[in-house]
Amino acid sequence: MITPADEAFLRRAVAIAARAVTLGDAPYGSLLAGPDGAVLAEAHNTVRRDDDITAHPELKLARWAARELDPDTAARTTLYTSCQPCGMCAGAIVRSGLGRVVHALSTAQLVELNPESGAWPTVAQDGPALFDEARVPVDAYYGP
Ligand SMILES: [Zn+2]
Repeated sequence: MITPADEAFLRRAVAIAARAVTLGDAPYGSLLAGPDGAVLAEAHNTVRRDDDITAHPELKLARWAARELDPDTAARTTLYTSCQPCGMCAGAIVRSGLGRVVHALSTAQLVELNPESGAWPTVAQDGPALFDEARVPVDAYYGP
């Protein structure tokens, strides 16, 4: 359920996205709110500027939280973002332990506005293979 307080943070995330456009960057913005409602960090998409395909704001904030917050604090934060996180960012959000994600546009809505935004191909993969060999470094690290 999205509360009026959530909507206020979402408006701020949308404003970050709008500011990104004025800077020549892609229109995506996010912020991380702490347990007390204070804004801990903000980011926008800098894929073009940084020539870095991973420079999505949600991923930047997930990495920041994993570095700067203890797990208990991270679990009590909320990531507000102007668009629904992509698969890459969703994975990072899970690994960083952020407690909640609230987005404005859904991926479906974004694709309606810009069909190219939804061109996330599935990755073709072959495997598994070489189990006995591939497990050696894993066992060496984690123990057999
Ligand atoms: Zn992303």
